[in-house]
Amino acid sequence: MTDSRNASLFPSVEMLRRLVAFPTVSRDSNLELIQFVRDYLKPHDADVRLTHDDGKRKANLFATLGPRGEPGIALSGHTDVVPVEGQAWDTDPFTMVEKDGRLYGRGTSDMKGFIACVLALVPEFMERGLKSPLHIALSYDEEVGCLGVGRMISDLRLAGVGPRACIVGEPTEMRPVIAHKGKTGYRCTVRGLAGHSAYAPRGVNAVEYAAEAVALLKNLARRHRDQGPYDRAFDVAHTTIHTGVIRGGTALNVIPHECTFDFEFRCLPGDDPDRLLHEFRDYVRTRLEPEMRAVHAAAGFIIEPLSANPVLDTRPEAEVVALAQELSGSSEIGKVSFGTEASQFHEAGIPTVVCGPGSILQAHKPNEYVELDQIMRCEAFLRRLADRICEKA
Ligand SMILES: [Zn+2]
Repeated sequence: MTDSRNASLFPSVEMLRRLVAFPTVSRDSNLELIQFVRDYLKPHDADVRLTHDDGKRKANLFATLGPRGEPGIALSGHTDVVPVEGQAWDTDPFTMVEKDGRLYGRGTSDMKGFIACVLALVPEFMERGLKSPLHIALSYDEEVGCLGVGRMISDLRLAGVGPRACIVGEPTEMRPVIAHKGKTGYRCTVRGLAGHSAYAPRGVNAVEYAAEAVALLKNLARRHRDQGPYDRAFDVAHTTIHTGVIRGGTALNVIPHECTFDFEFRCLPGDDPDRLLHEFRDYVRTRLEPEMRAVHAAAGFIIEPLSANPVLDTRPEAEVVALAQELSGSSEIGKVSFGTEASQFHEAGIPTVVCGPGSILQAHKPNEYVELDQIMRCEAFLRRLADRICEKA
């Protein structure tokens, strides 16, 4: 194949192949990948800061290239990927495969494609001579609730090296995104009282009370769907509420003494998750627990937070928005329902947009892929950034 879409002509494709080969599933270490990036950046005189998780099995990497002492533009991505267990892949998820203009492999769209483009173009940025700093920010544990990036941001605060703007390369098909919903997750444990099911009224059936609580969440979800508030710029225009996991009971003839379920609120900017949680708690406290406790005083609900990622709500007039529009050649400014680390940069006062190759529709699935065309567009985006921040045209 000699046409211009020959994958081997694009340095990012080779880099993506290397990154996919690190099986950085969130539960496992990402240190080999981080070490690879650190070594890769070494000849380019990068300042590299690592921040680790408590177990020192995972690390964030924040690199500064080019001039020091002034804030630069940060290009950011997470290094972890979602698991592949239980998914029917046609090929090995950790060996990138090119086929029909697509690059298959775990993380190709979410989001090693962007990281590969950024790393592959570092030699070009350096060759062309950076006039202002370029930061590369790689995080761990994004897929399990954006847990890693906070440590990087606190470290940058302490070190006084905050970027002046940030582009997070989550898959948006290279369209700039300025807002996303906030996500808060909770675990609810229902404690009941076990017994023989023939004597059901003498026990407290944790599964049944959990079901009533889940049904309330479903009704809250319906209310938001039917009554808003709405922001039509989002692909799902209202706040959503969802229960994702439920576990409880041991046998049909045993009254279940415990049931656990996990639920989340994905709120529009302006919608308050605490208000929703309050409504949920109130229902549990006034409608369910009195009946449970009439049978068994220790029965009841325990609600614990699992994760909280704030909204992204960058002002359309922010400089970084115009920059992303110019670099992507897209005047669109999108809003998306999925969460990203962009909101944490945003909360830290760093103007941030999301813009990266691939589609979120291909993320987290078997046979995840990114189109070669998306990689080409991301490279073009970064070369236009080089036009802005490098000496040589
Ligand atoms: Zn992602």
